[in-house]
Amino acid sequence: MERIRRDDLVLVITGKERGKQGQVHQVLPHKQRVVIQGLNLVKRHQRQRSERTQAGIIEKEAPIHVSNVKLICRACQKPTRVGSRVRSDGVKVRVCRKCGQDID
Ligand SMILES: [Zn+2]
Repeated sequence: MERIRRDDLVLVITGKERGKQGQVHQVLPHKQRVVIQGLNLVKRHQRQRSERTQAGIIEKEAPIHVSNVKLICRACQKPTRVGSRVRSDGVKVRVCRKCGQDID
C-alpha cells in the first residue's frame, strides 16, 4: 500500500524545502519519490526544438523521496505517520497515527 498518494497534502521534513507544504502532483512508486506542486524546483535549460517550444531556462519540480515528506492529516491538520486498517467492508484504508481518523 502506498503511503503517499496523488493529491495528498504533505510537509517536507528535510532538504532545502524543509518546512514547506504542498500537494502531491505525481507519485513515482518504483523510485519511492513524489513530485510536489511548486516545490523543489530545478532550473532546466531547454533547447528550442521546434517553432512552438520556447528556448531558455524553465523551472520544473524535481521528485522528493517519500522518506523526506510527511502526510498532513485532513482531520487534525497535523503531519503524521500513516497506518492502515481494514474496514468492516473489507477495504484497506490509511489511518492517521495522531488522531486515528481514516485518511481515505
Ligand atoms: Zn489526524
